[in-house]
Amino acid sequence: MTAQLIDGIALSKQLRTEVAQRAAALRAQGIAPGLAVLLVGENPASQVYVRNKVKACEDSGVHSLLERHPATLTEAELLARIDALNNDPTIHGILVQLPLPAHIDAQKVIEAISPAKDVDGFHVASAGALMVGQPGFWPCTPYGCMKMLESIGYDLRGKHAVVIGRSNIVGKPMALMLLQKNATVTICHSATPDLKAMTLLADVVVAAVGKQNVLTADMVKPGAVVIDVGMNRNEDGKLCGDVDFEGVRQVAGYITPVPGGVGPMTITMLLVNTLEAAERSLT
Ligand code: NAP
Repeated sequence: MTAQLIDGIALSKQLRTEVAQRAAALRAQGIAPGLAVLLVGENPASQVYVRNKVKACEDSGVHSLLERHPATLTEAELLARIDALNNDPTIHGILVQLPLPAHIDAQKVIEAISPAKDVDGFHVASAGALMVGQPGFWPCTPYGCMKMLESIGYDLRGKHAVVIGRSNIVGKPMALMLLQKNATVTICHSATPDLKAMTLLADVVVAAVGKQNVLTADMVKPGAVVIDVGMNRNEDGKLCGDVDFEGVRQVAGYITPVPGGVGPMTITMLLVNTLEAAERSLT
């Protein structure tokens, strides 16, 4: 078997066209959807992420406000900026690029963002809403994975999904989203004694670890759907995921590539959440 690719670039393009249409409809009502992106310090990877997010906004008709602050910015100053943006009617989503410098408490900063503008979905109110199945903002990466499953018409009811990784931004919310769609969910982590025994039972595997070759062909049930969230560099410095792509694609039914899989979907879901926030501000 050779797995079918779930193309995150093509799906993103389609979803971003819908975002652009929704943004145009809002502008026609006098509302320009707006996202504020706050960058503190000079982290090179963060600078690239922030640039990509701002470009994605521009391409989709979403107004973006990029605030660059020096690494010396105090926590109090950052909290004051967030307070101002919470009260700015032209801004519907607020994103603070992580990581923050060590002298700033990232959790405190996230909790300062109004839940109505928490388009990253990292606020405890957003996490709680997901937990109890109430409307709220879903974290962009697992939300993008769900859209990928939806794009292949995959019905999760009664399926066994195995999530490898339990971070607050990917693994845990991913598991809750799969559960909400009636999958039976197993969460694996670094203390799971026999990962292969778990993944071999899975109809869907989501790998969100940050280590190359965490999932190899011998660990995958034939026909399973494999979603690779990992972003790693291989020995040649090339971007790769957590999944041994060449091996696993011979066994799986569907697979997401890296690059070109979950990565573009994450930014796309940020746009979707921003649009949602702007639309909700009308009601
Ligand atoms: P994280 O916070 O470091 O969490 C990694 C998780 O993997 C932890 O729960 C850890 O378990 C688990 N783990 C580590 N080694 C393991 C092993 N050998 N077997 C099973 N589980 C193991 O990372 P994250 O923020 O969730 O990100 C995960 C990966 O996704 C990274 O490569 C990151 O770059 C990537 N990512 C990609 C996107 C995207 O847009 N494509 C977005 C976000 C993240 P413990 O909890 O026990 O330590």
